[in-house]
Amino acid sequence: MLKRLLVLVFLSTALHAQNSSAPQGNAASFDGKSWWNYVKVLAADDMEGRETGSEGLRKAQAYIVEQLKSAGLEPAGVNGFYQPVKFISRQIDESASGLALVRNGKDEPLVLGQDAMFSTRVDLAPEVDAPLVFAGYGLRVPEKDYDDFAGLDVKGKVVVIITGSPSDMPAPLASHYQSTSERARTLRAVGAVGMISIANPAAMDIPWSRMTLARTRPSMALADPALNESQDVKLLVVFNPADAEKLFAGSPYQFQQLAALAKERKELPRFPLTASIKAHATVIHKDVESGNIVAKLPGSDPKLKDEYVVLSAHIDHLGIGEPINGDSIYNGAMDNGSGSALILDIAESLQRSQAKPKRSLLFLWVTAEEKGLLGSKYFAAHPTVAKGSIVADINTDMFLPIYPLKLLTVYGLDESSLGWMVRDVAQKEGVTVQPDPEPLRNSFIRSDQYSFIRQGIPSLAMQVGYKPGTPEAVTHKQWLTERYHAPSDDTNQPVDLAAAGKFEDIVQALAMKVADAPARPQWENTSFFRRFVVVPNVGP
Ligand SMILES: [Zn+2]
Repeated sequence: MLKRLLVLVFLSTALHAQNSSAPQGNAASFDGKSWWNYVKVLAADDMEGRETGSEGLRKAQAYIVEQLKSAGLEPAGVNGFYQPVKFISRQIDESASGLALVRNGKDEPLVLGQDAMFSTRVDLAPEVDAPLVFAGYGLRVPEKDYDDFAGLDVKGKVVVIITGSPSDMPAPLASHYQSTSERARTLRAVGAVGMISIANPAAMDIPWSRMTLARTRPSMALADPALNESQDVKLLVVFNPADAEKLFAGSPYQFQQLAALAKERKELPRFPLTASIKAHATVIHKDVESGNIVAKLPGSDPKLKDEYVVLSAHIDHLGIGEPINGDSIYNGAMDNGSGSALILDIAESLQRSQAKPKRSLLFLWVTAEEKGLLGSKYFAAHPTVAKGSIVADINTDMFLPIYPLKLLTVYGLDESSLGWMVRDVAQKEGVTVQPDPEPLRNSFIRSDQYSFIRQGIPSLAMQVGYKPGTPEAVTHKQWLTERYHAPSDDTNQPVDLAAAGKFEDIVQALAMKVADAPARPQWENTSFFRRFVVVPNVGP
């Protein structure tokens, strides 16, 4: 009895001492626990995987808004914290659709889901009947004087490509020109009517069997036609690399030879194929409404407070889908309950500690990332604050605290002055930084920061890092293969709370550093992404 009492007295003294030694006016460091508690709410089964437009997503968003309100953050949407966004969903009706190769006048039907699948990322035309041409990587990159279409007649044809890029292509260029909108622009420029894309077998995140499970799920486009660049593409098909020899029968190369070259990132030949493709597609269209959430922590500097540092994370995920191991809820705990929880935790912590950044901070939970970065694209095109007042975007998507944080991977590290700022704050946490160790995965353009980059705004995204060839790299790869976009990305998976907490410290410190810096961040002169900066119209 006595002993226990003594311990209690000692403990309460120790706790008191710890509290009073916390720096005044500064947010305390995170321990990962508050973050994980939010993840558990956002990725719970009753949020039903947070599909864009679903009741589950509305519920998760309502939860975030409730937390923001009770913490005292300011609404900065159009309708309170919300910015409504309208979409059109497209769903393939496979029972009324079909694909066939035609060779010597004979149809060779393809099995949907086995050989190939339609992609509704574009608005598929009801009928397409067109010759096939193999166009290598299908890239046209003026900066490198590189053109897979040079001397190739693709007018009115469907191009077949292998994803990836030659090894001398810098990662940002390779990523940018493989984005859906740039692909669409290239196809339009060369007069092709569509594209069959074969995943580079060396860079597949998800095995084909799992990729095809989601093929009849609806995809979405922004209802505003001005924000839909892929309108002229009539056919988009994804082909199973394991069956791709069918496309190349009778041609000078076998697919396995081409795949071997693509794996080494060597230049690919281009040539007409002997087959043509015959496609009929039945697409069901529906109107969908969803929205982004925007909250503000006002800046304290009379002038700089009208500028904004955005902390963004997508809140949507894939919803309920094909069951895997008996589980049909795609909870999206890491993708991106983790990022959504992180910016909520930081917003609350800064508000609670009465932090006074010079510039204002904008916390942004975007919808429809999984549909092609659509919520962020809408926000970046129609910001709820003055256009031109956003100085940076720090995006968090699936930062994967699944082993200790010693190394930080920064997407966009060498592209803008944000890179120097993140180097500095990470160093103070004893963490080193590295650029993307796997540029072939196109990560810099695969999340919402890209929507801001395209508006000229310096941006970056970060992840708990690993070096290739280490046990961490194996864990990372295994996570992608087993849990990425699968129902097992739920809250039963192991996480490293200390890594999550340290990551939060870094994001928060970076946001404050950018908010307090005398000058707004700038793209590096050498950065490819500098091209999107709108030069202000200076009068005579
Ligand atoms: Zn995702």
